Amino acid sequence: MAKHRSKIFEIINDYSEASFEYDPISATMAGKNEYNSIWNDYTYHPVDPFLKFAKKTLAKLEKEEPTDRYDEIAKMVVSDDLKRYIDDQDMFHYYVYWGGHFNPLSDIFSVFESMPRETKEDILNIVKRLEKIPKLVTEWISSLKDVAELGAVNSKFRVTTAINAIENFADGQFLKMANDIDPTNKRLIKAAKHAEIAYEEVCAWLKYKYLPICTDKNALGKERYLKEVQLYTGLTIDPEQVYKWGLQETERINNEMWKVAKEILPNAESLIEVSQYLANDEKYIIVGVDNYVKFLNDLSDNAAKELGGKVFSINPKIKKCTVKLDKSTLDPSPYYLPPSDDLSRPGHGILPVIGQEKFSTWDAVSTWYHETIPGHHMQIATSVIQKDTLTAYQRGEGWNSGYGEGWALYSETLMDELGYFKDPAYRLGYLICQAMRAVRLVVDIGLHLEYDDPEGNVWTVESATKFMEEKALLQPDYARSEIERYISWGGQAVSYKLGEKVWLQIREESKQRLGDSFDIKKFHNYALKLGPMGLDRLRHELLKWNGK
Ligand SMILES: [Zn+2]
Repeated sequence: MAKHRSKIFEIINDYSEASFEYDPISATMAGKNEYNSIWNDYTYHPVDPFLKFAKKTLAKLEKEEPTDRYDEIAKMVVSDDLKRYIDDQDMFHYYVYWGGHFNPLSDIFSVFESMPRETKEDILNIVKRLEKIPKLVTEWISSLKDVAELGAVNSKFRVTTAINAIENFADGQFLKMANDIDPTNKRLIKAAKHAEIAYEEVCAWLKYKYLPICTDKNALGKERYLKEVQLYTGLTIDPEQVYKWGLQETERINNEMWKVAKEILPNAESLIEVSQYLANDEKYIIVGVDNYVKFLNDLSDNAAKELGGKVFSINPKIKKCTVKLDKSTLDPSPYYLPPSDDLSRPGHGILPVIGQEKFSTWDAVSTWYHETIPGHHMQIATSVIQKDTLTAYQRGEGWNSGYGEGWALYSETLMDELGYFKDPAYRLGYLICQAMRAVRLVVDIGLHLEYDDPEGNVWTVESATKFMEEKALLQPDYARSEIERYISWGGQAVSYKLGEKVWLQIREESKQRLGDSFDIKKFHNYALKLGPMGLDRLRHELLKWNGK
């Protein structure tokens, strides 16, 4: 029996363990390898089988008196999440709301990326999971049928984007993975082939049986949308106000972009012209994967060295956040892979490379700070090592998008304030990242609440894509894929900008309140060591901070 620092920690720990059993995919993602041979249950249940346990946990927590401040925070954060979970019992939702960026079959495929491949047992786990895929797919299809019979179906647009994603996995991705692991392992290769056949079958079923009965409506509607925003950020927003603020921010950032653009190309007639000019400027191009990896590693190493001890404290155990290549994904955006709880797997900035040899740097610098240091790595790895003060839940699956993505976007702004974008090309890269997050407020809310676009018609995929291209300078394919993402993942896209706003506000409030005794390093250390929580809570907690 593990020893816990308090009864509250013990209750939360039991909850975490039970939730991993219920959701083995998340367990693998969290680096918990004991669940690596089993899968989540995709059968339709009118009542969530885990609900009873969640309610029981909440009741137990409510009875316990915190023994100290850490206990108090743990109780509060987990109770908040449990209440949101219990309140979100629209079980149809998970069966009618999935798309290209967010569907069970993509989750199933991508979990293999996080599974270790070192020992015989590791490989056997991969084989066991692969062999269960045909059964899993049948389960999912029959759930979709059950729910459709009850009158709930997905939208045509989301299903079409999901089919495209799933078809890509069926088209050799499983076999490629199996061959990368061990081309001589016959059982593995056979299981990979069967997984691909199962994915092909599900695509055919979706295309010919399911799609024709789907709806044309992509919008979540106000009630559901606000629930999603609450889940992702812990904020109750006034959507109209946020939408207006999104438009203002887009305008403000675009004006700023113009100023910088004129420094780069004084006679430019459009911002896109400037970004195309930079894309072809040798000064901002690196040839060769190894050279690019070195460039990125230097960025995070230097940030750790120069900011550590001044802007925040970095524990030596988490000082490094190096590049790891991802050669399987089709999505070119870099992302962050957190360390495992015991740090045996360190945190990495993941760089997708799909046969690419030339890399542009001007628009990559800000993003790399976002993904690694001072961004996601600084926040997530810091909470991972707070073993004495945060529960395993707070260090792992309790991650809150408003807090975490807000921190990462705030980190980019922090680097701007600290003078890391003196080169106007890097600064334009930073501003584009800012513009994209501001535009997300407009199009995510606009699409899901069916507001009018700048032409006066209800927002559509086309008008939203065009808006992204113009205001955030995205390439047409990328803009389209972003819009597909918002439609299948409503309410998440606003968490970046809303989160950054709260981080900036609480920093300002603390400065005003504490005057000369405000210390930026202490502020960051304190806020990061609190661990993830909803943004309303974070604001509330920081108001109580005494500056120590
Ligand atoms: Zn991020």
